[in-house]
Amino acid sequence: MAELLIGQLLRFEGDPMTEGPDVARHSSRGAVVIEDGRIAAVGEADALRRDWPGAAVTDLGGRLISAGFVDAHVHYPQTQIIASWGKRLIDWLNSYTFPAEMRFADPRHAADVAALYLDLALDHGTTSMCSYATIHPESVDAFFAEAEARGMRAMAGKTCMDRNAPEGLRDTAQAAYDQSKALLQKWHGKGRLSYVITPRFSPTSTPDQLAALGSLWAEYPDCPMQTHLSEQVDEIAWVRALFPEARDYLDTYETFGLLGKNGIYGHAIHLEPREIARLREVGAALAHCPTSNTFIGSGLFDMHGLTQAGLRVGLATDTGGGSSFSMLRTMAAAYEVGQLRRYPLHPAQLWWLATQGAARALGIGHAVGNIAVGMEADLIAVDLHSTPAIAQRAAQAGDFWQALFPTIMMGDDRAIAGVWIGGKAVRALA
Ligand SMILES: [Zn+2]
Repeated sequence: MAELLIGQLLRFEGDPMTEGPDVARHSSRGAVVIEDGRIAAVGEADALRRDWPGAAVTDLGGRLISAGFVDAHVHYPQTQIIASWGKRLIDWLNSYTFPAEMRFADPRHAADVAALYLDLALDHGTTSMCSYATIHPESVDAFFAEAEARGMRAMAGKTCMDRNAPEGLRDTAQAAYDQSKALLQKWHGKGRLSYVITPRFSPTSTPDQLAALGSLWAEYPDCPMQTHLSEQVDEIAWVRALFPEARDYLDTYETFGLLGKNGIYGHAIHLEPREIARLREVGAALAHCPTSNTFIGSGLFDMHGLTQAGLRVGLATDTGGGSSFSMLRTMAAAYEVGQLRRYPLHPAQLWWLATQGAARALGIGHAVGNIAVGMEADLIAVDLHSTPAIAQRAAQAGDFWQALFPTIMMGDDRAIAGVWIGGKAVRALA
């Protein structure tokens, strides 16, 4: 039976990064009709009530109905090391990340953490994500099995490393190819799942391994590929030392067939003009991870320059290098990073980056990340008065954006009042 959700409604009819905030559509008394897991109608509440007299009505009052959040770059195996103190990228990997990832050789541990992570994500209103797993194929199986059990549209891949990582977290060029291919054939396109070819980053892959994964991508060009790019200055110097013949960091991927339109490059902070030009030419996407970039001390992403250059950008937590599971907190950090670069993002742009922008960066924007007829009904209800501090500020708002912005800046999982996956309520209305 059809279900009619009534509340405030926020959706997009264009890209506010390039077209401006006016492409966002807000209704103070809007509605969505869900039928067979998809959005069957969108409009004003009174009109849809009339047109769908048989639908079961859920009235959310003043809560905001939005597409669920989409997280463009996370490491689910790092769930338990989030908020670890005092390190920068390379030390952080060695001190915290690698020991944590070592434990994923145990399939039971992998299943436990995958379940823990996905439940935390849903609590925070994140309905889709693109995750790195670990070197262990079992870590990919665990993640996809748990995502499938929850009916989620999720993406992940085996994180390949064959050098500069401890014993137990290294594969080989051939094993990376063989295991990635087997996982891809097992999971890619199964239900709502997508496999993502995943070299961690060029310092931890030999040229042979990058070439092996490049040839796998050439066999499956519709499959996404994710990796890290130009996160920290020390890292870039290390890449230069490891690949003396490369023109720049991106060239270490490009040379081995790992630059393409289905590529998602995390961080991309300290890019050279040639790198920006090449990323744009091939139509690649970037994942902006602002809480990670400040937490690990990486630098300030150039949102204005890169979106004006025509690059697709999605917002991402980078859990556990990022310091929050919340896309609201992540939007707040993106705003703060923007301010430090003299580019204050409009609330419509922040919301877009965490929903349809991220979905487009991942190549799933046709299916999720917005409210439109035919899209999959992954939705959230957001309470714009979730704490006393937010409520007193929102009460002073003169328009919708002023009412929303306190939740963007100060909100967390308490603001997520309901979550629907494929039209099914998976988090009850608080
Ligand atoms: Zn990352």
